Amino acid sequence: MLVTVHGSGQGQVLYDVRFPNAVHHEAEISVTFADLPARPLELRMSRSSPGRYALHEFAKNVYAVRAVGAGGEALRVTRPNPYQWDVPEHGDTVRVSYTLFADRAGGTYSQVDETHAHFNIPATFMWARGLGDREIRVAFHPPEGSGWQVATQLMPTDDPMTYTAPNLYYFLDSPTELSAFSMRQWTIASGDTVRMAVHHAGTEEEVDRFVEWTKRVVQQEIAVFGEPPDFDGGTYTFIADYLPYVSGDGMEHRNSTILSSTQSLGGAGRGLLGTVSHEFFHAWNVERIRPRSLEPFDFERANMSGELWFAEGFTSYYTQLLIRRAGLTTDADYARTLGGGLSFVTNAAGRRYFSPVEMSMQAPFVDAATAVDPNNRGNTFISYYTWGSVIGLNLDLTLRSRFEKSLDGFMRSVWVRFGKTEIPYTIDDLQQTLARFTGDDDFAEDFFARFIRGREVPDYAALLANAGFLLRPAQPDAAWMGTMNLQYRDGSARLAGMPPEGSPLYEAGVSRGDRILSMDGQVLENASTLRQILGAHRPGDRVEVMFEQRGRNKTVMMLLAPHPQLEVVLYEDAGMTVTPEMTAFRAAWTEAATNGV
Ligand SMILES: [Zn+2]
Repeated sequence: MLVTVHGSGQGQVLYDVRFPNAVHHEAEISVTFADLPARPLELRMSRSSPGRYALHEFAKNVYAVRAVGAGGEALRVTRPNPYQWDVPEHGDTVRVSYTLFADRAGGTYSQVDETHAHFNIPATFMWARGLGDREIRVAFHPPEGSGWQVATQLMPTDDPMTYTAPNLYYFLDSPTELSAFSMRQWTIASGDTVRMAVHHAGTEEEVDRFVEWTKRVVQQEIAVFGEPPDFDGGTYTFIADYLPYVSGDGMEHRNSTILSSTQSLGGAGRGLLGTVSHEFFHAWNVERIRPRSLEPFDFERANMSGELWFAEGFTSYYTQLLIRRAGLTTDADYARTLGGGLSFVTNAAGRRYFSPVEMSMQAPFVDAATAVDPNNRGNTFISYYTWGSVIGLNLDLTLRSRFEKSLDGFMRSVWVRFGKTEIPYTIDDLQQTLARFTGDDDFAEDFFARFIRGREVPDYAALLANAGFLLRPAQPDAAWMGTMNLQYRDGSARLAGMPPEGSPLYEAGVSRGDRILSMDGQVLENASTLRQILGAHRPGDRVEVMFEQRGRNKTVMMLLAPHPQLEVVLYEDAGMTVTPEMTAFRAAWTEAATNGV
């Protein structure tokens, strides 16, 4: 690495950001490169963003690109591909300027208007290939009278509108919000500061209440790992946008996170804590406990990882559990959230095709990916968030019932070996850590073979019974034809997607795009007609279905199935006895850690 003299500007990359047309969602951005080597300057817009796995063509919102030399003379710019601008001949210094259009605030994109400039860095800033080690300095120039401040994990300088990053990699990981936000901050056990910047239209009291809840969740998360991460610059920043014109999202970064929702703090109440809990957990799991497959993150192409069942899935397992441990929900609430995930994973046809590792590898097609051609993902894909989360449940309850250990202890082992040290891990590393943690190689090998590399689902009812949680069919007597998005129009119901594989509709040969003209002799006017027909039948009954498929009318007899939906309820709420053993097991699992961390 080239040693550069900091502070003199030599070798530094200098960005300058202005907002002459904020009302129409434009930012004027320039970047100056000095001490350039004598080869063509290759300027890129990123195609991916940290924490996202699909490709995003950020270059499409960049225009009016110009390059000038040290004396202001115009330089020739060529376009070798859609994401790149080359300056073939230049001197020591090049200044590039462009206009950015941005009107989608969330974890992936940017938004500029008169209320804020919300920047996801890869969606915003052009960078130069081969200069990634250089220090970056960015100066923001908010509109006159806007009252904007800056919330970011970038490093502060003496000027409140100027920030630095040690290199391009850190810069691209540092989302930045400029607005008249409310700010709260507090100190955690390590002495580091946690800040929460909230840009919203509500009251200061709502912010205070939300920050109090957040503190309780943060404390429970620290208790899982035994210590907070050592945040760069001694600070972690929650950047929240709760406004009707943003897009709901949550995106983790090394020392910060973006939280966005169209809901208000007043309206959503504790509903907005899920992303707080999830994203802060990522400060350990994925930001520092890092899969080798994502190191280093490639900003020019899709990144594939077979570990997302752990990075996202185990994080999802803890999302609701830690809100429960923070005392902000009840065991009954927690049981309800478990039911949804277990029902989905247990019933999903996708288990016939791919393991959790293989599901993780499909992230480039599902993680905020867009396409116009339809797919059969409903039958072939199970989110690694959901599947990973029930694997976390499986492992936690197994460790507790069989080893008198817990997933918290396993996570701490992973943290010590791979997180604190920042040694990227592989799936084999996780298996070895589990073997060492339990002292049982066979158990670890069997668990990974069946549930991680394989596609098995354990006996969740038996696992949950340890805690007096009951897994059961939610509607055992209800007749079911396949959960379907139906579009009702002109006295028919059109299948908007693929029917679930193996469902009565699927078996009857009714498929995507077909229009159901009548069922059981009745025209399907709307959802309530359908409910009525199904309500009048029992699983095992046959009903006549007339439908139109690719211009031909067909009639079939459809065999109705029992509704497969599962739910989790507490034993006491199902009129069953909770033993003292169950009470103790449950308390150790869902109640606040008392280790005083
Ligand atoms: Zn996540």
